[in-house]
Amino acid sequence: MLINLNGKLVNKEDAKISVFDHGLLYGDGVFEGIRIYGGNIFKLKEHIERLYDSAKFINLSIPLTKEKMIEEVVKTVAANNLKDGYIRLVVTRGEGDLGLDPKKCKIATYFIIADKIVLYPEEFYKNGLSITTVATRRNVNEALEPRVKSLNYLNNILAKIEANNAGSLEAIIINQQGYVSEATGDNIFIIKDNSLITPSLFCGVLNGITRATVIDIGKKLKMDVKETVMTRYDLYTADECFLTGTAAEVIPVIKIDGREINGGVPGKMTKTIMREFKKLTKKIGIKVKYKK
Ligand code: PMP
Repeated sequence: MLINLNGKLVNKEDAKISVFDHGLLYGDGVFEGIRIYGGNIFKLKEHIERLYDSAKFINLSIPLTKEKMIEEVVKTVAANNLKDGYIRLVVTRGEGDLGLDPKKCKIATYFIIADKIVLYPEEFYKNGLSITTVATRRNVNEALEPRVKSLNYLNNILAKIEANNAGSLEAIIINQQGYVSEATGDNIFIIKDNSLITPSLFCGVLNGITRATVIDIGKKLKMDVKETVMTRYDLYTADECFLTGTAAEVIPVIKIDGREINGGVPGKMTKTIMREFKKLTKKIGIKVKYKK
């Protein structure tokens, strides 16, 4: 496996960064997770836009243009001859000293890994997930804006630990106001009557690329799409529920805090949305040219 480390393709064993890198010392950095479907890097431009927005928010200068970064991603996928898989693109503050001051870090570090990922076992796509709301609250927007895809994922990890300890595969995190935000690495949707509902961006959620794709699908299916606030009441009384994310794709939810959704089986509209999503995965994005 070849890893792109600051623009150079190196073997996995040689892909090493300094222990003084602030990405490691302080979680000071940003990242993206991106899928490749049949040689198509799904919505790569949108991922790059979000990466640069995250970097801008944390005042991190990425030492290459967006166009060049797209080339670097494509180059890494082609070098690994990967047709279907998952890309992790990380940009850190770079090497500094032991103090946290980012001024000491002269240049950002970036690396790109092109590999495979399986987030939830296959059976859960067919039978649905059972999820749990957890006590850990979402980071407040004014402290660590959840729209920034930063390397600070402890809030999400703490929620995941709670879910694990409760014997559940996934957690739903409630924000400080008591409104539903998202899962630990996925956005959440419910369906009620003909409405497709998801928490709005100010509820403490990542502006998910899959979320946006599903919103477009909902509109195309003539559903009444709402980005709004929702509480646990809305979750428990939903007709259908599912999670979305690059790694997770679209996955049905059939139980929330012990309450069955749709009688404990994946909903009809959820399955339609899953099918529509699959159709788009090879259509929107950037096609990789592989060497023969
Ligand atoms: N929320 C969080 C916290 C995430 O980390 C992710 C990405 N794994 C998502 C939502 C889903 O976003 P996307 O569809 O862009 O992958």
